[in-house]
Amino acid sequence: MSCNQTSNAVGISRFWGTLAFRLTAGYALAGLLLVFFATASLYLVLLTELEKSTDLFLADKLHVLRTMLRERPNDLDALREEVELESAARRYEQFYIRLLDERNTPLLTTPGMAEQLEMPLLATQTRSRPDRAIAMKGRHGQSFRVTSAAAPVGSPPSQTDTIQIAIDVSQEQELLARFRFWFWAILLGSFVILPLVGYQIARHGIRPVEQMTTTARHISSTNLHERILPDGYPVELASLADTFNQMLDRLEESFGRISRFSADIAHDLRTPVNNIRGEAEVALARARTADEYRDVLESCLEEAVRLSDLIGDLLFLARAESPLTHLHRERVNVAELLGGVREYYEASAADGGVSLTTMVDPKPVIAELDRTLVQRAVGNLVSNALAHTPPGGAVVLGTNAGFSTIRIEVSDTGVGIPAEALPKVFDRFFRVDSSRSQGSGGTGLGLSIVQSIAQLHGGNVEISSQPGQGTRVTLHVPASGAR
Ligand code: ADP
Repeated sequence: MSCNQTSNAVGISRFWGTLAFRLTAGYALAGLLLVFFATASLYLVLLTELEKSTDLFLADKLHVLRTMLRERPNDLDALREEVELESAARRYEQFYIRLLDERNTPLLTTPGMAEQLEMPLLATQTRSRPDRAIAMKGRHGQSFRVTSAAAPVGSPPSQTDTIQIAIDVSQEQELLARFRFWFWAILLGSFVILPLVGYQIARHGIRPVEQMTTTARHISSTNLHERILPDGYPVELASLADTFNQMLDRLEESFGRISRFSADIAHDLRTPVNNIRGEAEVALARARTADEYRDVLESCLEEAVRLSDLIGDLLFLARAESPLTHLHRERVNVAELLGGVREYYEASAADGGVSLTTMVDPKPVIAELDRTLVQRAVGNLVSNALAHTPPGGAVVLGTNAGFSTIRIEVSDTGVGIPAEALPKVFDRFFRVDSSRSQGSGGTGLGLSIVQSIAQLHGGNVEISSQPGQGTRVTLHVPASGAR
């Protein structure tokens, strides 16, 4: 493993470590907040409910006493029973009542009240907030809720007494203290447990992605056939693995095409270079006449032209694939363009004993095209047709306009293309019979260039052929120039 790879591996494992830490911290924090808010709100609910029920009890007692004072002001026995005896009967939540007249002289008091509460303090505290229950500490540290209220005596009232009530809520306070203890204990426990659980969850979630990354890191141009096995991953990651594998399929395919292409280029460049070299070596092996040197030079020139054509074609294809390539579109009368190509190839057609004609629509076919490129495409098709049509045959150039596309067609009555070769004729460097095509000067790039030109125009190309009967190649190109 190289130094670079090692530092990469260290960097990646640090990345996973940091990610696991962050996720753990996130889970733990979220869990702690949840536990905190859940228990705190339970505590608050309990606190308010307890206070509410105590306050209701106090309000109830006040109501009873007020009613008694208003309805039966002279029934002292009933009042005494209510004030002095009822409280004594209770074991828990002791409550104390004091009844004062208008001059604040105590009329009735629950026994033991003065031992439990500071009476002057009770008087001042309850006076400041009449009719409202408030918290107050007893003499021995107990918790009380106390309230006081004015109570009219008789109906109509002859005077107004004051009722003071206090209830011992120490039990409730103990309950709340226990709750607080458990609140902090749960919070502390969560503080320890949640990070541990969070870390386990984070590791569990990260592990498949980590494994996937490790596999992906090992894949390079030399082992592009390796794939991530989607088994054992959760569904979401299995689909990620699948997508990644599909990307690898495409990359492998592209790499294969590029290396085949490079091998083909090397092979096709080697042949003319070897020819030039061989002829030069043979020529230099002994003294030659001027005519012999001329022959060798002519042959070398022919090979050099072949080389330069090949390099030109390759450059064209490379440029056509670039997204920066722009067409120089202009309004083109396609029938005229075909006529120009026909004239250009007329002589070589006549040499081969092949008739070369155009067959066009009577109405003019006009389209926004790159004239030079379309001429080149049609030229390639005509040149192929002439090369594969024996004497006596015919090559016809035609065009017609559809609704939004135009068609340019080159058909011949030549040798045709075998069905199994037909799908491959647009591949670069593909030749049906490489010995025959090389002999006739074909590079195997002609139809690839035609296809590139059609695609640059936003169109496509079709080929149909019957061995022994002929071939037809059709370019479909949008007429408006929109890609
Ligand atoms: P080349 O430069 O060798 O002609 P092309 O890409 O133009 O390469 O064509 C690929 C192959 O398709 C050729 O080698 C040839 O065998 C075959 N081919 C192309 N056009 C025709 C045709 N009109 N008739 C018969 N075979 C053809």
